[in-house]
Amino acid sequence: MHESEKMTALPVATKAQTSYQKLLQTSSSTRLLSLIKSCTTKSHLLQIHAHILRTSLVLDPTISFRFLSLVVALSPLKSITYSCQFFDQIEKPTAFHYNKMIRAYSKSDSPAEGFYLYRDLRRRGLCADAMASSFVIKSCIRVSSLVGGIQVHARILRDGHRSDSLLLTTLMGLYSNCRKYDEACKVFDEMPKRDTVAWNVLISCCLHNNRTRDALGLFDIMQSQIHRCEPDDVTCLLVLQACASLNALEFGERVHKYIEEHGYGGASNLCNCLVSMYSRCGSLDKAYGVFKGMRDKNVVSWSAMISGLAVNGYGREAIEVFEEMQKMGVLPDDQTFTGVLCACSHCGLVDEGKMFFDLMSKEFGVVPNVHHYGCMVDLLGRAGQLDQAYQLITSMDIKPDPTIWRTLLGACRIHGSDSLAERVVGHLIELKAQEAGDYVLLMNIYSSAGNWEKLTEVRKFMKEKAIKTTPGCSTIELKGVVHEFVVDDVSHLRKDEIYKMLDEINSQLKIAGYVADVTSELHNLGAEDKAHALSYHSEKLAIAFGVLSTPPGTPIRVAKNLRICVDCHNFAMALSGVYNREVIIRDRTRFHHFREGHCSCNGYW
Ligand SMILES: [Zn+2]
Ligand SMILES: [Zn+2]
Repeated sequence: MHESEKMTALPVATKAQTSYQKLLQTSSSTRLLSLIKSCTTKSHLLQIHAHILRTSLVLDPTISFRFLSLVVALSPLKSITYSCQFFDQIEKPTAFHYNKMIRAYSKSDSPAEGFYLYRDLRRRGLCADAMASSFVIKSCIRVSSLVGGIQVHARILRDGHRSDSLLLTTLMGLYSNCRKYDEACKVFDEMPKRDTVAWNVLISCCLHNNRTRDALGLFDIMQSQIHRCEPDDVTCLLVLQACASLNALEFGERVHKYIEEHGYGGASNLCNCLVSMYSRCGSLDKAYGVFKGMRDKNVVSWSAMISGLAVNGYGREAIEVFEEMQKMGVLPDDQTFTGVLCACSHCGLVDEGKMFFDLMSKEFGVVPNVHHYGCMVDLLGRAGQLDQAYQLITSMDIKPDPTIWRTLLGACRIHGSDSLAERVVGHLIELKAQEAGDYVLLMNIYSSAGNWEKLTEVRKFMKEKAIKTTPGCSTIELKGVVHEFVVDDVSHLRKDEIYKMLDEINSQLKIAGYVADVTSELHNLGAEDKAHALSYHSEKLAIAFGVLSTPPGTPIRVAKNLRICVDCHNFAMALSGVYNREVIIRDRTRFHHFREGHCSCNGYW
């Protein structure tokens, strides 16, 4: 109802109502159908409702269906109470009625109801159409009900909808969402016709199910002679995400070329994604190139650039971009401030960081979230203000997450504070979030402090509780193919050459004064064995493979799933000088750009 309608005196409204009622009373069924179709106000809707109940026209399936459609269309998207009430007033709903309601439920706040309605429809011996089945699957996706989805899947096969691409694509989405990769692939394989949307769902399924490398392969496979399916902007968006996560710069460049050739280059979401991809692959110039070329830079674009510069160690430049953004009149959001605070922490700009943290809520109304606090803890930790960092965490309005405690734990390692480290691990245990890596870090701290007694205690504890360390894994891309290495990997085809190269590098670096650091990373080994085991960490294997397979002077880019250890950091630093190679390692927390024997992190990570 319009505001003006409310303001008018009551008798006028009543008069209007009476005339509409008269119109309804004198209308034929056909006329009534067209009145329902043209109804746009709540007042008319209520009058029609009353009329069809009073005259038992609700028993006419055509009229009740048309009216139900109207109610669903006019109801607010999330609330379907009214639709539900009317549906209950229909004595013998047809499959059409059911389909309409199932569809409405899938978009409502109570998606699970759609599934129950679907079951009810089945019990009444009615048949769901492909559309309704597709909506009930969407409901299952929203409530992550795999069991419900499987039941619908079985029905779909019985109903003979096995060739409906749209329906099968939705089903793939369900399996992907429920982390059933193989089932999703099976549906895909059995599809008679696969369009770009189906390929996109398969790619996204790879991304969500730890099959990121396969996602890259699919980009080529879908375009091959057999499938001849053209990737669209969504495909590019998904594949760029995969490139970013795998550090696959060359592949990312190929996708970039594809985007330009196919005229998607102007889309700001794709450009933003390119900026992130290039930044995450450690290629700042390319990220900046895309950013500079963008005509419509929104807050996401600016934030992506700021964060990209920050994580790559270009803190001052990131702050400059932030200032430029403000000059352009773009309002920063929470993501922007994550980037800015991260920039301050990477450059050790303690005062600036504190200033921005203050400014954020006071001037821009951005409430600090756990990431912002995380940056501040990193900043204070790096500056050695460990107690302040601890106080900040305990004074937070929000519950601290394991990551923030882990950030402080990292700072404890750098500054050798074992008493605080113990407290931090205590908090992680309290959150039931302690990982093997945390204990390893604690052991590193004890080991550096020469506290062997405590070290043995932790080791014993880990053994008793059978706490297993996450295997380290590093990836490196060569000519668009991503190669993966784990500790002591012997699965690579060129393993003999790689190990030979690693030995050669080790002896070269030794001449330059590099000594394997055996105190920092702990294994259940004697000192000699330790030096041996260290030389086979996955990032070393990836670097050796990079030296082996690329011409001198080519930068080596490696992505590692865990925090880089002190020894591998020293190794990469020495190698960057001796071999005159730029080495870029992205570990779990940050980037390390090694150049001429130095690292952009300045030894803090
Ligand atoms: Zn290492
Ligand atoms: Zn570093």
